[in-house]
Amino acid sequence: MEGLLTFLGTGTSMGVPTLGCSCAVCTSTDPHDRRLRPSVLLRWHEAGRERVVVIDTGPDFREQALRTGLSRVDAVFYTHGHADHILGMDDLRPLSFVAAREGGQIPLYATEETAGTLRKVFDYTFSPEATYPTRARVRIEPLEEKTTVHSVEFLRIPVLHGKMGIVGFRFGRTAYLTDVSTIPETSFALMEGLDCVILSALRHKPHPSHATLDQAVEWARRIGARQTWFTHIAHELGHAETNRTLPDGMALAYDGLWFPVVL
Ligand SMILES: [Zn+2]
Ligand SMILES: [Zn+2]
Ligand SMILES: [Zn+2]
Repeated sequence: MEGLLTFLGTGTSMGVPTLGCSCAVCTSTDPHDRRLRPSVLLRWHEAGRERVVVIDTGPDFREQALRTGLSRVDAVFYTHGHADHILGMDDLRPLSFVAAREGGQIPLYATEETAGTLRKVFDYTFSPEATYPTRARVRIEPLEEKTTVHSVEFLRIPVLHGKMGIVGFRFGRTAYLTDVSTIPETSFALMEGLDCVILSALRHKPHPSHATLDQAVEWARRIGARQTWFTHIAHELGHAETNRTLPDGMALAYDGLWFPVVL
């Protein structure tokens, strides 16, 4: 089956431009240097209708949904509970009302730890005592090793984000790993035979919980996908100048980039 993958955002937690910064990338006029918080959208057709999955709903989710003309969502997968990945959850509300009219809720697939964060941050949505009448029609679902959404299987790929265990996802011949600092051996084994891999690559300077670009390039070589895209990019990396330095088949992604994927 063929689907389409769209980058809703490719920036690091602070976004690019970064508030209060006047560096060359933050003041660049190249639209590729404007990065909203990281998220991807996956669309495909099943049983005659479009299916839509979003990975992470960061603080820019509303703007991203408007930009891509998103009118419904079938499911959301969460990588982890940091603000740049979950704080747009409440902006699912209007789309969840669409789901409710179709007779359901939007499932949010999350690890136990991420589910705990979602319940705490959005207690007015998830608390059993929640009485807020227009709360999102969503439900948290445990993230199993494999989750099938409308005929597409999402395989959970455990990785480390500093000391925190988080997850990436494989769907068909594509994998999405963001906020990664270590990929366990067992997770490399889950990424054999990929056409496309998306890896986070923050900047050149080391960071305790994010890979540098060089580290991500090294992983990309080992994974050996035909195409590697880097995301979760900080303002230290200018789009055009950085891409000139990368090997063939590897490049920084940018907001709005989309391409077909085999699911
Ligand atoms: Zn992040
Ligand atoms: Zn800057
Ligand atoms: Zn994070």
